[in-house]
Amino acid sequence: MHAIVRAGNLRGAWSRVAPVCGGWCSRAFATSGYKVVDHEYDAVVVGAGGAGLRATIGMCEAGLKTANVTKLFPTRSHTVAAQGGINAALGNMTRDDWRWHMYDTVKGSDWLGDQDAIHYMCREAPAAVLELERYGVPFSRTEDSKIYQRAFGGQSLDFGKGGQAYRCAAAADRTGHALLHTLYGQALKHDATFFVEYFALDLLMSQDGKCVGVLALCLEDGTLHRFKSNATVLATGGYGRAYFSATSAHTCTGDGNAMAARAGLPLEDQEFVQFHPTGIYGAGCLITEGCRGEGGFLKNANGERFMERYAPSAKDLASRDVVSRSMTIEIREGRGVGPQGDHIYLHLDHLPKEVLDSRLPGITETAKIFAGVDAYKEPIPVLPTVHYNMGGVPTNWKGEVIKLDADGKDEVVPGLYACGEVACASVHGANRLGANSLLDLVVFGRAVSHTVGEKLKPGQTVATEDPAVTERSIWNMERFRNAKGSRSVASVRLAMQKVMQNNAAVFRTQDSLADGCTKIDEVYQQLGDVGVEDRSLVWNTDLIEALELQNLLQNAVVTMHSAEARKESRGAHAREDFKDRDDENWMKHTMAYVADHTGDPLSSDRGLVKLEYRPVINSSLDESEQKPFPPAKRVY
Ligand SMILES: Cc1cc2nc3c(=O)[nH]c(=O)nc-3n(C[C@H](O)[C@H](O)[C@H](O)COP(=O)(O)OP(=O)(O)OC[C@H]3O[C@@H](n4cnc5c(N)ncnc54)[C@H](O)[C@@H]3O)c2cc1C
Repeated sequence: MHAIVRAGNLRGAWSRVAPVCGGWCSRAFATSGYKVVDHEYDAVVVGAGGAGLRATIGMCEAGLKTANVTKLFPTRSHTVAAQGGINAALGNMTRDDWRWHMYDTVKGSDWLGDQDAIHYMCREAPAAVLELERYGVPFSRTEDSKIYQRAFGGQSLDFGKGGQAYRCAAAADRTGHALLHTLYGQALKHDATFFVEYFALDLLMSQDGKCVGVLALCLEDGTLHRFKSNATVLATGGYGRAYFSATSAHTCTGDGNAMAARAGLPLEDQEFVQFHPTGIYGAGCLITEGCRGEGGFLKNANGERFMERYAPSAKDLASRDVVSRSMTIEIREGRGVGPQGDHIYLHLDHLPKEVLDSRLPGITETAKIFAGVDAYKEPIPVLPTVHYNMGGVPTNWKGEVIKLDADGKDEVVPGLYACGEVACASVHGANRLGANSLLDLVVFGRAVSHTVGEKLKPGQTVATEDPAVTERSIWNMERFRNAKGSRSVASVRLAMQKVMQNNAAVFRTQDSLADGCTKIDEVYQQLGDVGVEDRSLVWNTDLIEALELQNLLQNAVVTMHSAEARKESRGAHAREDFKDRDDENWMKHTMAYVADHTGDPLSSDRGLVKLEYRPVINSSLDESEQKPFPPAKRVY
């Protein structure tokens, strides 16, 4: 039996948070009297997108009493918007091999990905997609009834020597929709308890650095909920909304990343932000790479198929960073289309009507609604748009969150796990290949549940949390609820989005990034001067937007400072002043720590962002299956 919990249907004991004075309580409001509901679970998953649902299913299968805490109704998670598909070397269209997929992913990552994790993901991919088929995902079909697979960017046969691969399993252009609804249906078959429209505020941490659960706010009635657990899984998605133009939902605010940062944990490789080549000009909505996989191509104002010049063999199906940069160069050099010469055309009008009808029905509709274009007859105006965050909460290939010990070695953070876009496993390295994210969700959602299932027995007692951490979180929420500053949340958010869009764009220079650091730090300070109108605790969207803004800003400062420090070009991080990849000095992961200067007493004088580095894992999981791929120049 499953349960969906809304406010009227509470389990758990009522208690009150005792006020704790940890040196800063003079500034704290009186937390006593706040209603807190206590819950205890074997596992708590935060987030009900593809990653969170797959993890939840696995936890239940392992016999663990599991709660899923989600700010959105599960099927509204951003995974629902995924279009193109999910990669796996099923070999339904041509012969295929997961090792070729692994090679493409390592190359796509520009040798920043950890090869043990990439090995694991690509090897597990066929089984993961067949599992989805068994769960009931309505994949498109080939004539002989196999799962249909389309061409996608950066995918090759025979270690880059055998031409384009057809590896992306698709349900028309609505793969994420099919996947998310199916996973939710499967999750409901199990005995998980869903806490829907509960906003996770912060991780609960013990005094010796173990994660012991999460504190959440019930949006409906403003009660606080303390979920105690020996396994807390962050599956909160990306932070695309730190930018002005993004394909991601407005709810993609990097809450999990920021929660980890506030717990003093590092964020990995956040300078790597993927721009998708084909966001609709103006609206920013996504036009899937599947369009180019089905034979669509890009043209400039001279009617030229310019990708032939930049990527002679892969052309329009080169990897996303390469296509986005080429488009930007075309526009800069005066060959953009439209009255202001500031975008590019994507042509589908030469494709047979049956292909558009059967494989890309959602796209023709999106083009009509958001660009006013009939894709059967006219090109779609497009522009590179922020799409995906390669960086995030660092994990190993088992989904355990890691930090650096005193000697700079990986150390597991007990009790904390992450999967999906919030996590950095790191399978995507400096650039994610299209259709590798849906794969990452299900492979690592499952991996996390296996890891937890092996470590935990149902019913184990949970360590005590550090009350100061809980208090600080409530104080943080309260300062926003009562904030009387002069700036609106919307204005600070817009200022942040503009700085990120202008200063940490497709191409970057020292000037743009150094200026970006100054500017984004200034915007960060403005958080201390926001005003929130609604003081209630019932569906206070004003308050939630303020908390989401704080989360976005913590991700934004990390992104900008990490990018400024990295003096090379690699994958999505393209510096005009350091045009080449520099393996000698920069084949390493950034580990960034945030200090909150807007009144958080725990972070005193550490500076806004502190950077450390961690080596890339250049060994495969099992050399007898596949040796690691040594670094090489990346050409398409
Ligand atoms: C338009 C679009 C199309 C895409 N197409 C593809 C594609 O075809 N193939 C591919 O591989 N990838 C694609 N991607 C990328 C991929 O879809 C995402 O990376 C992936 O779906 C993220 O899944 P997730 O489970 O990590 O997070 P999400 O699906 O974003 O879910 C996040 C969950 O976390 C919860 N949450 C967040 N914050 C809190 C909080 N504070 N408290 C409680 N709950 C919280 C939310 O309620 C939600 O349930 C696409 C992305 C976009 C934006």
